[in-house]
Amino acid sequence: MTDERAKPGAADEHIVEELLTRLTSVPNDARSFDVTVEEASRLYPVGVRFLDRVRARGLCEEQEGTELFERTDLINVELFLGRGAATMSLRRFWPATLKRVQAPAPAGYLVEFRAACPDPGHPGDCEYSLVLPGGRQQVRVERSASERPIAHVRVECPTEWPDLPESAREIIDELCGVTFVRLPWKLGHVLDDIAFVRRTGLGDCEAATKLLVKCGAERGVPIRQSFGLMLAPPFALKHYWPEVLVDDVWVPIEPLLMKAMVEWRALDPAQWAPYRSPGAALWRRAVEWWDVSVRHNGKVVEASYRAEVVPDPSCGPSGQTHRLVGQ
Ligand SMILES: [Zn+2]
Repeated sequence: MTDERAKPGAADEHIVEELLTRLTSVPNDARSFDVTVEEASRLYPVGVRFLDRVRARGLCEEQEGTELFERTDLINVELFLGRGAATMSLRRFWPATLKRVQAPAPAGYLVEFRAACPDPGHPGDCEYSLVLPGGRQQVRVERSASERPIAHVRVECPTEWPDLPESAREIIDELCGVTFVRLPWKLGHVLDDIAFVRRTGLGDCEAATKLLVKCGAERGVPIRQSFGLMLAPPFALKHYWPEVLVDDVWVPIEPLLMKAMVEWRALDPAQWAPYRSPGAALWRRAVEWWDVSVRHNGKVVEASYRAEVVPDPSCGPSGQTHRLVGQ
């Protein structure tokens, strides 16, 4: 029996070599190098096939005798090969949702927030809190080591959005040469990721959003940053995206990912130009991620999200309603 992991095909090798060549432009200072070989093989089973190649490019570090890799490098290998859990939502679930939720009816979703009591635990109950439409809500649950639902939120998104003006389209056109990759957190928060995108032609959702906001400000086109959830049933993912003000409506755009989804053949380019809004599958929650994080006993904890399309969207006055589990 052959070990498929040990013998990547020639096409895969070419894809990864090309990707790694481009990723060497990410400064090593920006990498966290916190993934061990054992974690890599458990969390990134496709990426681990190429650890030798990653190592050969110097994209690893030895700390106290332990060899460590950067998480985003391994995620990018998976993304470019089109495999692995981390890439399913972007290459399969999100484009499938965009094609499914069509105008004119609004798209309805049920979003589930999940979190677990972090190690090492504590006496007493866990108190989880999160900001929902309408203000802060809290829910108390029994202490449980395993991840469980904290809240369910019913969300409604318009499927029809105004067309973008020429001035916004021109700005989007300038991004057409940028390739979507995941970038290390430090690049956007310690170093200058806008300059990085311009220099290298590589960008993630946050860097591309900042660049579009900056270009808009320079040219008098109102573009704002948004943070929320990309609705890609069965999951929902934390996401940054830009929005353009058109006739008093902030229109969500996602030119970098739209282009990537067309290149991945997940969307038909005849129907999905980079100017078309994917707002039917985006739920704007805030300007920054920390505004909407799940807190456990007052401290932000990792949360995960699930989503499903519901046929009968809610009809609250704001278009968005919610209910908490157990209330
Ligand atoms: Zn707890």
